[in-house]
Amino acid sequence: MNPVNKILGKGLRFDVSRNNTPCKVCKGTGKQTTTITTWGSDKVEKFESNCVWCNGTGQMTEQQLGNYNYDKNMWCKCKDKTDAYYVPDGVCRCGIGKHHYHCNKCKKVTQVG
Ligand SMILES: [Zn+2]
Ligand SMILES: [Zn+2]
Ligand SMILES: [Zn+2]
Repeated sequence: MNPVNKILGKGLRFDVSRNNTPCKVCKGTGKQTTTITTWGSDKVEKFESNCVWCNGTGQMTEQQLGNYNYDKNMWCKCKDKTDAYYVPDGVCRCGIGKHHYHCNKCKKVTQVG
């Protein structure tokens, strides 16, 4: 939370940084809903928490937006994700330390761990 925004409160809020964009993940609400389903039962629990992408501000700085785009572009969007190759812990240049899988077609990540 930007100190100036905090003092002004919601109604009078203005953006100190002109580069801020409404958060792409929470759509500017600053909240994120996580749905937890217990395996083997029909129970569905919903938790509301501060959006991890914008730290609950509803706004993304240029850097946060960059991180978001990086993360989004990292994942394979192919329909068939079975054609993937395994990379062991700590050897891949893509920046993921854990073992993971890359798609053979687009070379993006299909699964981590
Ligand atoms: Zn957000
Ligand atoms: Zn792919
Ligand atoms: Zn990798």
